[in-house]
Amino acid sequence: MLNIVIFGAPGSGKGTQSDRLISKYGLHHISTGEVLRDHIARGTELGKIADSYISKGQLIPDDLMIRVLEHVLDSDPENTSKGVIFDGFPRTIDQAKALKKMLASRGSKVHAVVGLEVPEDELIRRMINRGKETGRADDNLDTIKNRLSVYHSQTSPLREYYISEGKYHGIDGAGDVDEIFSRIKESLHSRVPGLDGDSSK
Ligand code: AMP
Repeated sequence: MLNIVIFGAPGSGKGTQSDRLISKYGLHHISTGEVLRDHIARGTELGKIADSYISKGQLIPDDLMIRVLEHVLDSDPENTSKGVIFDGFPRTIDQAKALKKMLASRGSKVHAVVGLEVPEDELIRRMINRGKETGRADDNLDTIKNRLSVYHSQTSPLREYYISEGKYHGIDGAGDVDEIFSRIKESLHSRVPGLDGDSSK
């Protein structure tokens, strides 16, 4: 069983690289952004609250977000107990502490944090393109700028937090998607004991 956090600024390629990690290691994917967008599309109460933050590029408050994640984990214990890739969670130190507790109470832990490191001009370029291709509402320049500033003030301190826990794998996230995935595999295979799978895939 392997729990991986994929970490990085908005536009750093977390979703794309999560897809690769899922097919290689058979992990269950939890993207908190996708969970919230699904609630918005269905017009639920949570969706209405989430929309008011997401449209401004702000984070959903920790207490609410932590409850949402706990609910997601408990709604599919069979799959989530086999190993999860956490995409977009944690985004604050309090969320990281809550995740540690949540997993410990389920007899588990975060095994590795993959940090995708991408220069800011490249992040903006990718998000503008994604907005054009997918119509994603928060991929417009004003909201992108807010999301990046929230990332720097609230989320980037997690890098130090996970370095101090000995779990952080910093990956150069610029360039070709396949090359980035190879860097991730190399880093995980060199430092995570007992990792299944053939790193050549
Ligand atoms: P993402 O798809 O991960 O880029 O998330 C899109 C938006 O959903 C973010 O800009 C936040 O507004 C919100 N969101 C997603 N995950 C979290 C989280 N862990 N904590 C707070 N807000 C979140």
